[in-house]
Amino acid sequence: MPEIPDLEVIRRFLNERLLGKEITRAAELRPAMVRSLAGEDFAADVIGRRFGTLTRRGKMLTLPLEPGRLLVVHPMLTGAFQYCDPTAKVAKRAFFYLGGEGFDLRYIDEKQMGLVYYVRPEQLSLVPRYDDQGPDALDAGLTYEQLVARLKPYQGEIKGILTRGEFIAGIGNAYVDEILWEARVSPFKRRKALTEDDLRSIHAAIPKVLNEAIDVLRERMVPDIHVKVRDFLKVHRKGGEPCPRCGHPISELTPNQRITSYCRHCQPGSLLKN
Ligand SMILES: [Zn+2]
Repeated sequence: MPEIPDLEVIRRFLNERLLGKEITRAAELRPAMVRSLAGEDFAADVIGRRFGTLTRRGKMLTLPLEPGRLLVVHPMLTGAFQYCDPTAKVAKRAFFYLGGEGFDLRYIDEKQMGLVYYVRPEQLSLVPRYDDQGPDALDAGLTYEQLVARLKPYQGEIKGILTRGEFIAGIGNAYVDEILWEARVSPFKRRKALTEDDLRSIHAAIPKVLNEAIDVLRERMVPDIHVKVRDFLKVHRKGGEPCPRCGHPISELTPNQRITSYCRHCQPGSLLKN
């Protein structure tokens, strides 16, 4: 699933190339992906509009198509953008494209899990989950005190809380493992058992892990922004490999069908008692 680092690289890459460019060609290659709340035929309506500055909120990207339209994309598990030459072979699971002089921006979705909305700016709040999101995890203004205050109402294990978009937006199953490893906090530690040290470490680890990943991904994803790169992560899906910090083998569990990777040595805490 794209998380903040992936989406930030995509956002910056597309802003460098698309800003001000006019859409002169567009088509829906498969039906029922774009939900047009703006009421018009999406592919016909985008012609002549120009790309504004892409923004990101949590795991959603918003592409302004000016004047007066927004394309809001929530890629979920499998959605991706491909930026390519118009002559490039079209992927099997491409759902639509927006094309202009010398470029195609295609939306590909292997399992059709993503959500794409075409709206007028005043309809943004109609996009499901858009307004329900908590502060963005990369928001430099999120203070330690705010993080602690936001945590208060939540029970349960810290990993589950950090991946809830309404608590803090943009962190998913992969980067939460990285953040908790960086902070040396067990993913199974319950919120009430967290010490001030734990909380300060988590607060510091969030931007550190996300920003470092953005730097790596900028090198690795560009120009193929539709390809997911995760092999550089330190613990997520690295079960059995040595922990990069202490050398003990990384543990991997799949509670609730979600893989959790962590180092029992660096991130101590019993599964049952903490
Ligand atoms: Zn370790």
